[in-house]
Amino acid sequence: MGYILKNMREKLKHELEKIKSEGLYRSLPDIDEGAGKYIISGGKRLLNLASNNYLGISEKKELTDEAQTALVALGCSSGASRVVTGNFSLYGTLEKEMAEFKGTEGCLVLNTGYMANLAVIASLAGRHTAVFSDKLNHASIIDGIKLSGAKHIRYRHNDTAHLAELLEQYKSTEEKIIVTDSVFSMDGDRADLKEITRLAEKYGALTIVDEAHATGVLGCGRGLAHELGLEKRIDVHMGTFSKALGSFGAYIAGDAYITDFIRNKGRAFIFTTSLPPAVIGANLGALRWLKSNPSCGEELLKKAAEVRNALNLAGFDTAGSSTQIIPVIIGDNFKVQQAGRLLEDAGIRTGVIRPPTVPDGTARLRLSIRLDLNHDELEHVVHSVRRLKNA
Ligand SMILES: *Cc1c(COP(=O)(O)O)cnc(C)c1O
Repeated sequence: MGYILKNMREKLKHELEKIKSEGLYRSLPDIDEGAGKYIISGGKRLLNLASNNYLGISEKKELTDEAQTALVALGCSSGASRVVTGNFSLYGTLEKEMAEFKGTEGCLVLNTGYMANLAVIASLAGRHTAVFSDKLNHASIIDGIKLSGAKHIRYRHNDTAHLAELLEQYKSTEEKIIVTDSVFSMDGDRADLKEITRLAEKYGALTIVDEAHATGVLGCGRGLAHELGLEKRIDVHMGTFSKALGSFGAYIAGDAYITDFIRNKGRAFIFTTSLPPAVIGANLGALRWLKSNPSCGEELLKKAAEVRNALNLAGFDTAGSSTQIIPVIIGDNFKVQQAGRLLEDAGIRTGVIRPPTVPDGTARLRLSIRLDLNHDELEHVVHSVRRLKNA
């Protein structure tokens, strides 16, 4: 720094220069067809391991047909918030079918996963609440806690002993919430929901589980809570239509009083125009597709395990991944961009992930394994990542 910044404009420009000098500058890559198995970027055809369309269903007829029907019947916009005139009947159908799928009394669809976490946390928690949150939880959870004004208590990633210690420390705080991703978005590991649930019951804490990356994959698509048989013991299940389900939007599921409460108090639910009809149609199509393809998640995980095992054998650090999300830890912010470029030369687009999305010194390539990758493509991925060792 060393000099006095003249005014706010100068300060903003200076901050941008600093971001660039640290290798943290973000620009937005041009893409045709962001969710397809192949994308065209900069005139080049690339295998797409950067999107969260894990099941590759975003272009399936089951989704596009429903989207088209809704679009033609209802037009492009919902025109208002759901509390005014934006609550067309397709919403009711989707929520009823989703509640059935999740085995809960209630379901509420929200515009995005980001907004769902804001709505849930900011309405359930307040100044008198202590919210215990995994250090690697998604940014939307952190923002929800900030917005709620609650006491924000972060525990070390997946360290339930640390969580227990903190719960003990705050024993006398009456209102407690534990919130966690079920599958962590940048590490691809799973939360220890069994122990978290046990601790929540012991200390009388409410539980919120974000299944954004588990929906469509674990527990026959229902999520990690279902895979572990914990669905009845978790208070709030949140998940998205925007990742494995190949569409857009989010849901929360739980007892009816929970969804009632968020419908009444969730500002990120109330004060926003509801999703356009075509999106709700696509969500319904995706959910129905998932119901008739219950083993797709397991098949995806098998493919991911093949890739991960091969990379581990070659000496790569894939953190705690046990899912379709495979981080390849590089560390340095410049080296990771170089690695991303080398993989593009080999025809593969990966997520190049740097701080502050991940902790300092843990920049990484993020491989999203997809169900539609064939044997040759999986081999090509492994082979190409291996070659980074010689770069
Ligand atoms: C992507 C993601 C969200 C946000 O969902 P959007 O629908 O993209 O807004 C929330 N939580 C987690 C864990 C996520 O990975």
